Amino acid sequence: MPKVTYFSGETFPLEMHKVRIIQKLTLLPIEVRLRAVQDSGYNTFLLQNKDVFLDMLTDSGVNAMSDRQQAAMLLADDAYAGSATFTRLHNKLIEIFGQRYFLPAHQGRAAEHILCKAYVRPGSIVPCNYHFTTWKAHVTEQGGTVVELLKKEGLEVNSDNPFKGNFDVPALEALIAEVGVEHIPYVRMEAGTNLIGGQPFSLANLREVSAACHKHGIKLVLDASLLADNLHFIKVREPEFADASVGEIARAMADTTDIIYFSARKLGFGRGGGIVTDDEVSYKEMRGFVPMYEGFLTYGGMSVREMEAITVGLDETLDEDMINQGPQFIAHIVKTLDEAGVPVITPPGGLGAHVDAMRFLDHLPQEQYPAAALASAIFIASGVRGMERGTMSEQREPDGTEPLADMELVRLAVPRRVFTLSQVNYAIDRLMWLHANRKIVGGLKWVEEPELLRFFYGRLEPIGDWHNELVAKFRADFGDSL
Ligand SMILES: *Cc1c(COP(=O)(O)O)cnc(C)c1O
Repeated sequence: MPKVTYFSGETFPLEMHKVRIIQKLTLLPIEVRLRAVQDSGYNTFLLQNKDVFLDMLTDSGVNAMSDRQQAAMLLADDAYAGSATFTRLHNKLIEIFGQRYFLPAHQGRAAEHILCKAYVRPGSIVPCNYHFTTWKAHVTEQGGTVVELLKKEGLEVNSDNPFKGNFDVPALEALIAEVGVEHIPYVRMEAGTNLIGGQPFSLANLREVSAACHKHGIKLVLDASLLADNLHFIKVREPEFADASVGEIARAMADTTDIIYFSARKLGFGRGGGIVTDDEVSYKEMRGFVPMYEGFLTYGGMSVREMEAITVGLDETLDEDMINQGPQFIAHIVKTLDEAGVPVITPPGGLGAHVDAMRFLDHLPQEQYPAAALASAIFIASGVRGMERGTMSEQREPDGTEPLADMELVRLAVPRRVFTLSQVNYAIDRLMWLHANRKIVGGLKWVEEPELLRFFYGRLEPIGDWHNELVAKFRADFGDSL
């Protein structure tokens, strides 16, 4: 964070970059926004981007590229095999993580697929600090079971715990004693824990997890997709590393882990992914799946242009001025909403601001998908597209019962280097209005519920007429405002 003290005594985010290419946005009238929500089955994944004002669905593949990334793309070396572009990316990963082998994949979930194909068997138990949607689907598809061993405090919606992504090491010991080490193919730690609000783990915790795994000969796998945020938080929240560079912290993390995988749609500001390891045996165990599912070993489904952009993007990930913009904006949103009484996850994490729909819509039962209803209501009220991260993002058990999520969140992602502070303030303003009118918002029910990853493409409809009441209240309060 740039060390700038303001005369006014206020503190606000300060971007250490300037905008040099822009894309025009449109803000449609609320009636048109309602129609768009109806056409998309009250699922923000199904909205058309042309109808969206601020796209805060995700940070995946939509982070802004730098001039250096764009320039590097022109230098891409187009070859199926042995491209110099691949070597540059590989060398950058060796430089950052100090691990020799790299298996490219077209995105993060493809890396998860390979890891699960290689190591998960029917009956496998795979512990993690917290699951991620696509990873869990891959584990389950191979016949394995995911066990979450997040420290209990991580699920407290409001706290001042700086590391809510920390793993419960004694619980791992107990699990090993219960199920036997032979059933645990690996332990997965997720940086910047996505589904619980972009919350980091501490390096001290990662080291403890690593020691416990290695004592029992279990591999430690790091999901580094949201590594940049986690590096930032270790630097600013873990006193031992206040003077370390983020590069040194990244290396210290890598030194504790056996396999690292990542989505370069997040880490590296590009589009791609891959798996890194220093263990030749693991490398060979996974290698065959790359040409089978992704592409040859020197591109893995990525275009050479994207690989060049990722190489430079990874470099920028080690620049504190470049990675703190997201966390600063998120902290601003969370602080402003929290002070206004709008329930949000605290402390602020990376990835986005997370609105607590369970409390925002405390008149709705979880079976009516409060987070999905709130995501739709936010879009209707503002044209801001967020993402449901609650019960709708869960999957039914084989017997059809529906697990209720630990948290009902609407994530307003802050893609890195994309939005301005005034746009973010607009989103905050509309959320405050919606909160003042929250009793209007009702629940949702399924119209079409897919079996697999239903949140991506399932369709719902409102219970009652709340959507029309919301539009009427907006018009009564704001006249002909957009
Ligand atoms: C996005 C994400 C993934 C999957 O990456 P994709 O590139 O979207 O397939 C995996 N793990 C975490 C933590 C993520 O945030």
